[in-house]
Amino acid sequence: MALQTIRHKNPHFIGVATNHLRKLGRRDFVAGDALIDGKWIAGEQRDAVVDPATGEEIADVAHCSAAEVNLAISAAERSFAAWRALLPAKRGAILRSWASLMLHHSDELAILVTSEQGKPLAEARDEIAYGAGFLEWFAAEGERAYGETIPGHKPGSLLQVRMQPIGVTAAITPWNFPVAMITRKAGAALAAGCPMIVKPAPETPLSALAVARLAEQAGVPRGVLQVLVGNPTELSTPLLRDPRVRALSFTGSTEVGRLLLEGAADTVKKVSLELGGHAPFLIFDDVDLDKVVKGATAAKFATSGQDCLAANRIYVQKGIYAAFVDAFAAAIAQLRVGHGLDPATDIGPMTKLSVAKKCRAQIDDAVKKGARAFSTDQGADLGPNFVAPTLLSDVTESMLIASEETFGPVAAVLPFDSEEEVVVRANSNEMGLAGYVYTDSLRRALRLSEQIECGMLGVNTASFTGPPIPFGGWKQSGLGREGSRHGLAEFMELKYVCFGDLVS
Ligand code: NAD
Repeated sequence: MALQTIRHKNPHFIGVATNHLRKLGRRDFVAGDALIDGKWIAGEQRDAVVDPATGEEIADVAHCSAAEVNLAISAAERSFAAWRALLPAKRGAILRSWASLMLHHSDELAILVTSEQGKPLAEARDEIAYGAGFLEWFAAEGERAYGETIPGHKPGSLLQVRMQPIGVTAAITPWNFPVAMITRKAGAALAAGCPMIVKPAPETPLSALAVARLAEQAGVPRGVLQVLVGNPTELSTPLLRDPRVRALSFTGSTEVGRLLLEGAADTVKKVSLELGGHAPFLIFDDVDLDKVVKGATAAKFATSGQDCLAANRIYVQKGIYAAFVDAFAAAIAQLRVGHGLDPATDIGPMTKLSVAKKCRAQIDDAVKKGARAFSTDQGADLGPNFVAPTLLSDVTESMLIASEETFGPVAAVLPFDSEEEVVVRANSNEMGLAGYVYTDSLRRALRLSEQIECGMLGVNTASFTGPPIPFGGWKQSGLGREGSRHGLAEFMELKYVCFGDLVS
């Protein structure tokens, strides 16, 4: 089944991505075939990939079947013994070489990401560096899967806990970070000694396939990394049902995360889930206005707002509220909307039309219920996937945006009086991925760092993600962690061994 193509005419944009991709294609960088058991499979059916800025079809990719999922699982299983037996340092060397190939081809990868995902090219380049960083981190971390030795609890005994690779793993990845969400999972799985089958989002398969091609060039053996593209349920159902797949790592919406968790129950797989967010961003009266406006702009508008760490509720204390709203509106007015391949662009199109529609519905709902809206009105003539950066002030909890994730460039600002009150309001959401606190008081920062219910908290900073941090959420934002030493453990089993009778 072909993906939906959005037809609209914009003479400035048509062909922008295609022209770039043609040049890349000549260098064999645009791969549309799936990677199964070391072979590139064209498949009988193909799916269209579109530039979300123009709706133009830019490439087509294989449409894999359930039978091909089975082939991939068998190939992964065959590759497991040799891959786990490699010394961690050897696996690490392959991962490092994969990372350096990604960095070497950063420009080409960034063009692919922007062409199918829509984000500004500079952000796409940052994503490649961020994504390569996970391979480098796990290359080293794989050598540190130390385990433990525990003092014996029985006479003459020695207790050991080992970390062993879990087996064949699968990853289902989203479209907002089409490269980094793959390397964050595959870097950890491969470093742990596990093969991985990746199912990227159907909106962004080209980035995934290009990254897999570089993995192959770096020396990742046949079957150890495979990429299947096609319909999400057709591919995930056999992955979930097959008992040979021992772990599943997913990044995406909470709704789909729930379905996958349920589907994994029959074969009791280890499941890690990075799901939706609804980050509260708390601003107290005592802050430096310029710094907090910069922080809020970054936390809301990076990746054109399509970021699970995005500030979804910006709570501002009443003493600074009016000044903040004015300064934030001025900062938003500077953001330029356009095609991601245009170097002047700050905000690209929404990758999916449904996200743009959700943004518009949240704005309408908030305005109807009394919010004040500020927008530069850019984007309306550019196409249906564009949403102008918008500031909604005087937002209240009765509005959709206060409880439902936005995932687009719409900022909701809510006034508050006291610390006690805002903590309750910040924690009132069922999501608990990230949070932000801006205050000049160390005592308040320490108190709030204990009280805010989330997996990741930035205090006086909007920039805290990267390979060393345990990325993940509380409550319905997910299970498990990615990155850091905890990310490696998601793909390993603990084995406790008791050596007895040591005293002769
Ligand atoms: P989505 O859950 O629909 O898609 C994510 C992935 O799941 C894609 O690969 C998609 O093809 C696949 N998928 C969709 N339906 C499926 C099904 N029934 N069975 C198996 N796979 C299926 O997500 P979306 O709505 O396209 O993306 C936005 C959401 O993802 C947001 O809510 C956002 O917060 C979340 N997200 C979270 C993180 C994180 O790190 N926590 C990162 C990115 C996105």
